[in-house]
Amino acid sequence: QDMGSSGGKKDYSTAILERKKAPNRLLVDDAEGGEPLDNSTVLLSPGTMEALSLFKGEPVTLRGKRRRDTVCYAVSDESCPDSKARVSRVVRANLRLHLGDLVTVNRCPDLPNAKRIQVVPFEDSVQNITGDLFEAYLNPYFTDAFRPVRKGDRFVVRGNLHPVEFKVVDTDPGDRVIVANDTAVHGEFEKLLKREDEDRLDGPGYDDVGGVRKQLAQIRELVELPLRHPKLFQTLGVKPPKGILLYGPPGTGKTLLARAIAAETGANFIVVNGPEIMSMMSGQSEANLRKVFEDAEAQAPSIVFMDEIDAIAPNRDKTHGEVERRVVSQLLTLMDGLRPRAQVVVIGATNRPNSLDPALRRFGRFDKELDIGVPDEVGRLEILRIHSKDMPLSDDVDLERIGRDTHGFVGADLAALCSEAAFQCIRQKMDVIDLEEETIDVAALQSMTVTMGDLKHAMEV
Ligand code: ADP
Repeated sequence: QDMGSSGGKKDYSTAILERKKAPNRLLVDDAEGGEPLDNSTVLLSPGTMEALSLFKGEPVTLRGKRRRDTVCYAVSDESCPDSKARVSRVVRANLRLHLGDLVTVNRCPDLPNAKRIQVVPFEDSVQNITGDLFEAYLNPYFTDAFRPVRKGDRFVVRGNLHPVEFKVVDTDPGDRVIVANDTAVHGEFEKLLKREDEDRLDGPGYDDVGGVRKQLAQIRELVELPLRHPKLFQTLGVKPPKGILLYGPPGTGKTLLARAIAAETGANFIVVNGPEIMSMMSGQSEANLRKVFEDAEAQAPSIVFMDEIDAIAPNRDKTHGEVERRVVSQLLTLMDGLRPRAQVVVIGATNRPNSLDPALRRFGRFDKELDIGVPDEVGRLEILRIHSKDMPLSDDVDLERIGRDTHGFVGADLAALCSEAAFQCIRQKMDVIDLEEETIDVAALQSMTVTMGDLKHAMEV
């Protein structure tokens, strides 16, 4: 049963939040696996389109938090539930929204064509490259696309070895416009933008984790509501889960998954490394754990991620170390002491679940377990797509074939394979790159494509 697809089935995880009265107040969601969404679209259910009297492809304003709004084209999507609006991570960042937050969608008729807009790339996203950014990035992004933009929006242009992030600093006339083919798009490349804190796209998103669709749906259900709406659990008289155990071999994405949940829910992320904490001086390990839990509660909502938790909490029957005994019981005390409304979830990761102290796996502690196994062929393809999404691939590249031929590879291996292929491609293009120069010309970057040969080469190293 695929919990990730909410196609015809009722989506009970959010049913409780449904608001019949306001069909334009929708829960922000991501694309349903596969292709990432375009920066200029919002996917809505056919029901929502009708309720808001929207034509297909009509521009709408989306309103988020901190008085932020943006403009997108509304596209009807059969697989989207009535309660949701699907937008890309860039759009969510522009709206200062996390997944599961509410967005307000309104018709936006009479959006004028822009006379001119001015955009500036972020300094850190064009470091070490020079050349015609306009021809390489802006022209292809805007030509024939008729993109609606909002002054202050950021957008990422991909399709190259190197994605570049821009900000719209000015629009004329008004703050919301459509960029038509006769719009003067002015790129400011002399004075680059320094990134302010609020301009950061924080952490990895759900769309960066592949091959774990089912586990992702389960963990979202377990973690998102307790972190965001602890009251719901109180109302229903049940205790939200405190601990989740992820088990699977190294490099399968356990850390990535936990980080993505923190980033997408806006929770604070605290990492505890098992072996590291055990290597501390006597007494320090426990004190450190106590501090971690204190911080987590103080800065809630928080996710405490305990990597290699088996080092902290090995089976007490089988260890003779006094330190281990004390640390395990400290951890149990801390977990038991977490208030149900603390908005703290502890995620433990291990590749040896059976070597854990059984007391830790009991009800009210790590009582949910998810198997993050080695990905299958479909999973490998998903992961390959994620890690090659910013690479220009030659037409001869057959990712499905690579997915078939990489039996036994975990996510980390596939990520390494993709970057090795990119390096291989660069090695072969040394003639067009002047290594004496500090920067690389975009035209040179633009001329590079990763070929099937590069990928095959990478599989052999
Ligand atoms: P683990 O915690 O299971 O040892 P990590 O999350 O540290 O694995 O994975 C290391 C890196 O490998 C990640 O940062 C990511 O680049 C890549 N990776 C691993 N698993 C996946 C996955 N399922 N999807 C996408 N990338 C992955």
